Amino acid sequence: MKNRQFKSESKKLLDMMINSIYTNKEIFLREIISNASDAIDKLYFRSLTDDKVGLKKKDFKIRISIDKEKRTISVSDNGCGMSEEDLDKNLGVIAKSGSLDFRNETEKTKGVEVIGQFGVGFYSAFMVSDKVTVISKAYGSDSAFAWESSGPDGYTITPCEKDSFGTTVIMHIKEDTETEKYSEFLDQYRISALIKQYSDYIHHPIVMAFTEKKAVEGKDGEFEDITEDRTLNSMTPLWKKARAQIKPEQYNAFYKEKFFDFEDPLHVIHTSTEGQATYKALMFIPRHAPFDYYTKDFEKGLALYCKGVLITEKCAELLPDYFSFVKGLVDSEDLSLNISRETLQQDAQLKLIARTIEKKIKSELEKMLKNEREKYEEFFKAFGVQLKFGAYDNYGANKDNLKDLLLFVSSFEKKPATLKEYVSRMKEGQDAIYYAAGETIDKIAMLPQCEAVIDKGFEVLYLTENVDEFTIRIMGEYEGKKFVNVCDKNLDLESEEDKKALEKANEENAEMLKQAKEAIGEKVHSVRFTNSLKNHPVCLNTEGEISLEMEKALNAMPGSSGQVKAQIVLEINENHDIAKKMISLFEKDKETFSKYAKLLYDEACLISGRAIDDPAAHSALVCELMTK
Ligand code: ADP
Repeated sequence: MKNRQFKSESKKLLDMMINSIYTNKEIFLREIISNASDAIDKLYFRSLTDDKVGLKKKDFKIRISIDKEKRTISVSDNGCGMSEEDLDKNLGVIAKSGSLDFRNETEKTKGVEVIGQFGVGFYSAFMVSDKVTVISKAYGSDSAFAWESSGPDGYTITPCEKDSFGTTVIMHIKEDTETEKYSEFLDQYRISALIKQYSDYIHHPIVMAFTEKKAVEGKDGEFEDITEDRTLNSMTPLWKKARAQIKPEQYNAFYKEKFFDFEDPLHVIHTSTEGQATYKALMFIPRHAPFDYYTKDFEKGLALYCKGVLITEKCAELLPDYFSFVKGLVDSEDLSLNISRETLQQDAQLKLIARTIEKKIKSELEKMLKNEREKYEEFFKAFGVQLKFGAYDNYGANKDNLKDLLLFVSSFEKKPATLKEYVSRMKEGQDAIYYAAGETIDKIAMLPQCEAVIDKGFEVLYLTENVDEFTIRIMGEYEGKKFVNVCDKNLDLESEEDKKALEKANEENAEMLKQAKEAIGEKVHSVRFTNSLKNHPVCLNTEGEISLEMEKALNAMPGSSGQVKAQIVLEINENHDIAKKMISLFEKDKETFSKYAKLLYDEACLISGRAIDDPAAHSALVCELMTK
């Protein structure tokens, strides 16, 4: 018997497997089963054209056997089997493609990740075994051979006995260590759970003899061990069935079980694509955001299957961030062999699938928006912020892609509206999309500036989410219409005449306004008259890039030092009696004038929904003036 050497690349991989610190060692079973299934496929396809095979689909099986005493777990198949030469060629050399590059030592850790996510096939058995024996008889041959190895030192191939064609992989499970409990792989329940988890949709039955205690009939209190064969996998995955054959309840049950939700999904997307990318996908939009959705702990991704074998539970590359709320899976025929040799990020096929998946999700959302408005609004309540953030993120790289999926509550019926709807209702001559930001819709609606704009017959978008104004700003415009904050100093609604009159009033009272600013102090950037207010005496506006709401949002961000300041302008309604009062006080009683200025600033804060800086001082001042 000759001791044969592994090819050097294989030896390195084997070394890595044996010393693997990877915690997901359980995937070895998936790998061995998937090889067995491939081998059966090969013979099955042959049986379709070659009557001599003499087997029907139902005759093909994968059998798992556990021997606790010998510490072995075996996986047998009645597939094509391997000849002596095949054993040498297939199991002595790893990855013909060789894309796992082990020449560079620093790549080692990357290699471990690859194992974790995709496995590298047969050798993964060495993560849990100290000896692996493969007994195989090639279909059509009379002789069987045993391949055996205890690790990188080499392997042997010897003739042996085997009744029928096919392969049995016998894995001798390692002894337990302090940190690793390998014995779990000798437990029938654990193995059956692993098969359910990773190999449920392998399309040949995976059978195991289960031994369980059963009460002996007629003899009270007596039990005996009963052994019976059970098929552990369900074989036909829901997503491979035709849509017409699936009832909504089936989709719902599948979703809840697989994605641990207690509620039915809001929307199901079941799609099958052929052509450049061939895959089936079953995706769900949940009704509510998971509790950790808006935290950094949330992991996006779709489960990825190749020919029914689970490759990874969460393949992040399949979903863009803005659609990260989608749950589901993709099953592709294309990926199978390549993917186990490539890191996912580089896989062109996967990228192609991801692009078509994204398009599909988008078109489903567009359809929902058009045909099922209520449902879309429910969706948007749960995940709209994510879409808005998506439009803002990356300096607005995706804004055009997402802009028509966004909803903002509008002053028109106080209902969510798309930008398209807003623009379609614009008045003749209106060249801007007006918006106002604040804590709640009611508070925004009460903003003096808002009232003034609505009064002129314009519609205003009410922005209540922190992200809203950032999104709007990064978009800049929609269909050529600029977004304009109603609190913006440059809001241009007055006639030329009014503008001139206002300019004059501001110039004539420049000294008084300057004095008012001094009295209020750093809190305001300037004080001036306005004629755009109807009934309100005062309001707060801003100058420059940062609005009041943005100031709030930026300062609330994690890691912010709270130093962001909007440039606040206190505006006094020129047509209000208080304006006249201020002018006369400025001439007669400078001290009271200063107090009034402070009070007016506080009033403006209250009107715009801001807290006043010093409520005690405010109240003292009010009382002082009341008792005068
Ligand atoms: P992969 O399956 O990705 O090609 P593996 O290392 O898992 O890589 O297996 C190497 C090769 O060994 C397979 O391609 C196949 O030809 C052969 N092989 C493994 N297991 C079996 C089996 N149970 N029956 C027949 N051939 C097998």
